[in-house]
Amino acid sequence: MKEVILPASMVDELEEIYRQLQLEYERVAGELNFSCIGCPDNCCDSYFLHHTYAEWAYLWVGVRQLEPARQEELVRRSQAWLAQCGEALGKGDRPQVMCPLNEQGLCVLYTHRLLVCRTHGVPASLTRPDGHTMHFPGCFSCQEIVGARFREGGPPEVERTPLLRRFALLENRLLENKRHLVPKVKMTIAEMIVKGPPTIE
Ligand code: SF4
Ligand code: SF4
Repeated sequence: MKEVILPASMVDELEEIYRQLQLEYERVAGELNFSCIGCPDNCCDSYFLHHTYAEWAYLWVGVRQLEPARQEELVRRSQAWLAQCGEALGKGDRPQVMCPLNEQGLCVLYTHRLLVCRTHGVPASLTRPDGHTMHFPGCFSCQEIVGARFREGGPPEVERTPLLRRFALLENRLLENKRHLVPKVKMTIAEMIVKGPPTIE
């Protein structure tokens, strides 16, 4: 097995995609007058799965910047998180357990957080390669704003399609154009931490 390492040029490229997404997010949040300030919830306890080697590797760029003892602590917390989520999943429930990277409301790896962490909140749309467009309504708080202000016609949305297309091309290059040949990623952040950096055969 060999580790999937993001070269510096791809780190830059990924960060540029994140920056563009951030700008789109801010545009939509501004138009909706939406913000997380004062929210009674913390969506870092939402159960999300992540799907790319690029983000898995990028998360580990961040993990490796931490002291070894901190890294070990994150692994322990991630193991505990997985055990708790396993119980909920075993009962057929959707887990709701605070992310192991969240400390007192703040993300330990904020600069290296994943795409879902960066885009959750405001409405978004994504057109798949087969032409089908999916709409994401945003978090409960944003849906309240949208419900009150956009009874007719759609709300502004983050258009994820061109940025996620760039993301998919980057993922394929990272995997040496063999994306279709490697096992698919469908993992929580905790699994990415416990398993260590990504590897392929
Ligand atoms: S994204 Fe929504 S649910 Fe999450 S903290 Fe912000 S306002 Fe609250
Ligand atoms: S990685 Fe950070 S931003 Fe994402 S869910 Fe965990 S604590 Fe929240």
